Amino acid sequence: MKKVVILKIEDYNEAVIKVKIKEALEKHFDITNIFDTSDKIVLKPNLLMEAAANEAITTHPLIIEAVGKIFKEKGNPVFVADSPGGFVGNKDMDLIYEKTGIKAVAQNNGFDLLYPTQSAIVNDMPLCWWAADCNKAGSGFKMVNLAKLKTHDVMVLTLAAKNLYGCISGLFKSHLHKMHPKTEDFTSVVLKLYEMFKPKLNIVDGILALSGNGPAKRGKPVKLGLVVIGDDALYTDYAISRTLGIKDKNNPLIREAKVRGWLKEEELEIVSELKGETIKNFELPDPFIVNSIPAPLLKLIMPLISFRPAIDSRKCRLCGKCIQVCPKRAITINKTLRMDYKRCIMCMCCSEMCPHAAIDLRVNPLIRGIKKIYKCFQ
Ligand code: SF4
Ligand code: SF4
Repeated sequence: MKKVVILKIEDYNEAVIKVKIKEALEKHFDITNIFDTSDKIVLKPNLLMEAAANEAITTHPLIIEAVGKIFKEKGNPVFVADSPGGFVGNKDMDLIYEKTGIKAVAQNNGFDLLYPTQSAIVNDMPLCWWAADCNKAGSGFKMVNLAKLKTHDVMVLTLAAKNLYGCISGLFKSHLHKMHPKTEDFTSVVLKLYEMFKPKLNIVDGILALSGNGPAKRGKPVKLGLVVIGDDALYTDYAISRTLGIKDKNNPLIREAKVRGWLKEEELEIVSELKGETIKNFELPDPFIVNSIPAPLLKLIMPLISFRPAIDSRKCRLCGKCIQVCPKRAITINKTLRMDYKRCIMCMCCSEMCPHAAIDLRVNPLIRGIKKIYKCFQ
């Protein structure tokens, strides 16, 4: 059986959140068997971008504080990590930690903030080093999945399973989106990540959720007053989707997981403070336009939106750092630096690690031209 507990928590009051989550963990989940006191706990929030907590785009810092404190009290070292959208270097990550309120919470409680400094290939996916460690038995790192309850233009909702997308390193996330533009294909990517990680503790922050055209600035914050805890990411998402009154056939993740036999109604036990009540009028995103474009036409358009890392030879000092970090050995040196784009997977680790800012993104010239024309008419 998989268990999901739905708590009613009206406001971001850290003391109340901590008491209620701790009580639920002690009563409903065998937490001492899942986590050893020597485990290094990696809290994995949704930190999509630089956004204030009240924008409901990122997991609220007080959820992170409450859960982190619970583990600290047990004696575990606590870390916070995510791989936000787009290309994020250490400086960008710092800004995201600061703007989302995580930095202050980490400083006040002795949590360590992790940075996307290196990646490792696992199952053909470049993962951030900390995610690869959480995935490796015996590494000592264990993930606690701290997702945000949000709508998502491609997936309808982004909850616990989709939050695992933030384990992927750098721009490979954008690359995967590009390679799997339709909801159906992208769902398979999310399910692959779920299969790889299967976090044993998932907590979804829905006190202030994001409705409408999420998952970022176009969404609308809405107060739901919910915190949902589950021992399985898919079943957690299933319980939330039902609570929001979404039919299984209208949620691509749930629909596909059921087809695969990964979700079974009879294996879900829900303990809910909502007492069976469903949330009414939660606004979902507009239909995803790409799903209505025929696949052959999409194939033609896709190369036009490509981008890739490019070396600025005026800045490059041939220090070789990028060669060391490239997970696909796509960079070679012979008087000048060369990139083999057939090997490159666009993780952008080379760019993140270059001490001279000599590697940047090069966008397709056609797209650059369109952007310039667009700016002229603004
Ligand atoms: S890390 Fe930067 S400066 Fe060093 S070789 Fe690579 S591109 Fe050049
Ligand atoms: S060259 Fe290597 S490190 Fe740089 S983006 Fe490509 S695969 Fe990643």
